[in-house]
Amino acid sequence: MSIKKACLFGLPVNITTLDEAKDYLLNAAKPMQVITINPEMITKAYKNDVLSTLIKNADVVVPDGAGVVIALRMIGIKTSRIPGIELAYSLLQEAEKRNLKVALIGADEDTIQKAKKELLKDLPNLNLIYLRNGYFNKDEENVIIQELAESRPDLLFAGLGFPKQEKFLEDFKKYSKNTIMIGVGGSFDVWAKKLKRAPKIFQKLNFEWFYRLLCQPSRFRRMFPSIPLFLLKVILERNLHRKEY
Ligand code: UDP
Repeated sequence: MSIKKACLFGLPVNITTLDEAKDYLLNAAKPMQVITINPEMITKAYKNDVLSTLIKNADVVVPDGAGVVIALRMIGIKTSRIPGIELAYSLLQEAEKRNLKVALIGADEDTIQKAKKELLKDLPNLNLIYLRNGYFNKDEENVIIQELAESRPDLLFAGLGFPKQEKFLEDFKKYSKNTIMIGVGGSFDVWAKKLKRAPKIFQKLNFEWFYRLLCQPSRFRRMFPSIPLFLLKVILERNLHRKEY
């Protein structure tokens, strides 16, 4: 089983649906590292070989940001956003059904504890074997990786922000034979009910980014001019994209 792949600025993006991605991840050989990509990440990787290699080495890359979906449309691919938080949650539902071992790492201590409490309200039989806040130094990180290698989670979500979470997961991947791992960004804050997702109508219209901007105006400087410039670059640097590869 494989899923279709396109290429934006030389970086892979899988063209798939949430359900297809979920089934693929559950059935494919492990370990599997998933990156949920947005224009900011592509822009950073464009200027940084280490980040670019990190994304190229991922097993699955799904378009999370609306800007990526627009860019794909501009090169002739019609596909939908796959919000990382939804893909992650659908994997948790599957984990509960199949009694898969789940490890969560990221956010501050209060947030990760609240996220656990809220998740267990909806998924009471979730087999949570490992929980850790996302603030640690290099020595502590080595211990965490060792502990995770011993506890062999089937699912590992890291919410440490990009690229810290992707680097962490890539490091852990060397020790894992059975894990599906995803960088989930601020998902623990949402599950802990500290951060709200946009109302459904914003999500449907691909305007979730705008809602996040309204709630966190500090994101403005990061997002602009990066998104308009990103879309302009999609047009100017056509030779770096491919519809299928
Ligand atoms: N975070 C963390 N450890 C860090 C830095 C950030 O656990 O060293 C957490 C932070 O508490 C928050 C999440 O990472 O829960 C932020 O993720 P998001 O993707 O929203 O951050 P961005 O990459 O957009 O800044």
